[in-house]
Amino acid sequence: MPDLKTKRTALVTGANRGIGFAIAHKLAELRMSVLAGVRNEANAIAAAAAFDKLGIDVKPVIIDVADAAALPSTLEAIEQRHAPIDILVNNAAILIDGPGGFNASLFDMTDDTLRRTWETNVLAPAAIIRTLLPGMIARGYGRVVNVSSLAGQLAGMSSGFPAYRISKTALNALTRIAAAEAGKGNIKVNACSPGWVRTDMGGPDAPRSPEKGAETAVWLATLPPDGPTGGFFEDKKAVRW
Ligand code: NAP
Repeated sequence: MPDLKTKRTALVTGANRGIGFAIAHKLAELRMSVLAGVRNEANAIAAAAAFDKLGIDVKPVIIDVADAAALPSTLEAIEQRHAPIDILVNNAAILIDGPGGFNASLFDMTDDTLRRTWETNVLAPAAIIRTLLPGMIARGYGRVVNVSSLAGQLAGMSSGFPAYRISKTALNALTRIAAAEAGKGNIKVNACSPGWVRTDMGGPDAPRSPEKGAETAVWLATLPPDGPTGGFFEDKKAVRW
């Protein structure tokens, strides 16, 4: 059974569109108090209107995850203004490998592509976890979900979009490390793959809706106290690292 008895505060990064929007939507339907991380003021206004239209109470908060150095103070201000964050979904990410998108070659990868991908997809979740996990540990409750990808799975590692793949492998490592540091109490730190999802990142040919892509992240965000930690899941089932 999901852990839904207490109204928890959840933060979902990159929640103005795509899978992040669907995760925020579903968590609000499950009666969580949801903060939707968005990059800037314009996105905050658009996201507030989109959530209002659906009749759900989700509050946009401005978090540009590419600015990792600013994240601790930004998050502290958000927690002071709203509430301590019990559930963190690190969802925001970029896929900027090129040319060729999913076929982009290692030999075309520039240092700039790798650096920018690393900043958004790895430094940001690392900084956010470092800022929020100690409070979760002190309060004795926390759920951290890192939205990863089978593209980062070493067991199936292959060519194509190398900067993104490298970043998701690192995010998986971060998941294991944070889970180990959080210990065996009621703090659960897991990674998930949403599958191939129809979003700006996944493209129009992907088979899954954002709602379907959100399902495993929502499950991990609402795990009961005896739920798993330090795992990597797709469709609520463990997958190889
Ligand atoms: P998306 O449609 O491209 O949306 C990405 C979200 O991240 C947007 O809300 C975007 O905000 C936000 N974001 C990016 N950089 C940001 C920054 N610096 N600050 C704040 N927000 C930022 O991607 P998606 O398909 O929903 O992907 C969501 C997650 O699922 C990602 O972690 C992705 O790697 C993972 N994933 C997706 C697929 C797939 O098939 N779609 C497959 C495997 C894994 P803006 O609107 O401001 O750009």
